[in-house]
Amino acid sequence: MKKHNFNAGPSILPREVIEKTAQAVLDFNGSGLSIMEISHRAKDFQPVVDEAVALFKELLNIPEGYSVLFLGGGASLEFCMIPFNFLEKKAAYLNTGVWAKKAMKEAKAFGEVVEVASSAEATYTYIPKDYTVPADADYFHITTNNTIYGTELHEDLDAPVPVIADMSSDIFSRPVDVSKYICIYGGAQKNLAPAGVTFVIVKNDALGKVSRYIPTMLNYQTHIDGGSMFNTPPVLPIYAALQTLRWIKANGGVAEMQKRAKEKADMLYAEIDRNKMFRGTVTDKADRSYMNICFVMNDEYKELEADFMKFATEKGMVGIKGHRSVGGFRASCYNAMPKESVQALIDCMQEFEKLH
Ligand SMILES: *Cc1c(COP(=O)(O)O)cnc(C)c1O
Repeated sequence: MKKHNFNAGPSILPREVIEKTAQAVLDFNGSGLSIMEISHRAKDFQPVVDEAVALFKELLNIPEGYSVLFLGGGASLEFCMIPFNFLEKKAAYLNTGVWAKKAMKEAKAFGEVVEVASSAEATYTYIPKDYTVPADADYFHITTNNTIYGTELHEDLDAPVPVIADMSSDIFSRPVDVSKYICIYGGAQKNLAPAGVTFVIVKNDALGKVSRYIPTMLNYQTHIDGGSMFNTPPVLPIYAALQTLRWIKANGGVAEMQKRAKEKADMLYAEIDRNKMFRGTVTDKADRSYMNICFVMNDEYKELEADFMKFATEKGMVGIKGHRSVGGFRASCYNAMPKESVQALIDCMQEFEKLH
């Protein structure tokens, strides 16, 4: 039976990316060796990193003066590297979910942290809109897509101070005005590659402004100077990331990814709104994520939740269980998710409605 992969992360990748990566595991570039058994400094591997960096710059239209890095540690390590490298006195954070909160917690060890707004009291079911970012903050940190709660900032924000964004789960799903940010980062395992590589886009001249000592491995400058090769980078995930970047380019780039994402999300939200058994959890429709679509069973059908899960699983749906802190369902529809799978889930919801 065909599986429809709605996993939140690690998550679906284009079939082509998996096949090309599998091929390189068996035989990299006809070398007779696996990509897993060659040096990251081998002359054949450098072009992989170079092309991945070039495609990042091309696809996101990254201006001059920015570096693209491939590191280890996940987005979670960036929560600490960000304040290490950028926080001198004060930083502002928008608290839109568990990841934002974790980022904020790390920053508190480095200086004053201002939570400009929070939707925690409403289980993060909306993104706060009315708040003031202190003009003397070193940076303003946002999470553009809240993977767990299904809220998303669909546009780049304007702020009186440099913006830093965790784009773990919506990178390459829309055009981004990178010039508005001094740093954009994320774990690759949502929309780009298998787990193990973290991407960081950093504005070079925003570095070197803090007075503290920064440990070598946690200093972005180390990795800029080393071309992401200061130590052994996650070779295989970088190779897979390159295949995804090529796939995005061949499929029309980020504008096309955004068009497809909106189309898929609109289809599913329309069914959630129409179907008497379900409702969306995000209260402000403008905040609804195109990537992670969260919904629950309406109160009068609440006891059928487990039944729907079983019904959907039998029809090939995978990974639709909501995060444990939210409950209900979450259908993650990343770039690689085909429209047919979204339609299969909609069919499932309609059949289940007819049964009751
Ligand atoms: C998954 C996720 C993270 C955590 O990423 P790790 O690579 O596991 O550290 C952080 N932020 C967001 C928005 C995420 O979706």
